[in-house]
Amino acid sequence: MPEDPILYQAAVATGMLGPNMVGLTLGHGIYICHGHCTLRLISHELRHVYQYEQAGSITAFLGVYLEQIVTSGYQNAPLEIDARNHEAR
Ligand SMILES: [Zn+2]
Repeated sequence: MPEDPILYQAAVATGMLGPNMVGLTLGHGIYICHGHCTLRLISHELRHVYQYEQAGSITAFLGVYLEQIVTSGYQNAPLEIDARNHEAR
């Protein structure tokens, strides 16, 4: 979790970071908590890699992604919905 109190509050309020978060993608880097590596989660995170590539850079992706998280919340952010729609089941 962020140490900055404003970022911490934003992360909690949007549901972006929390005890249920087990995967994170930054560009081509996929980070998965030990014991949570499933085909479904990997396919979700790989869709985020695709989204990063389509955006053209980490900065470009995060600008759009974080705006969606703040305005729509984690569950309803269009990029999250897209990633869930591409999960292998
Ligand atoms: Zn996601």
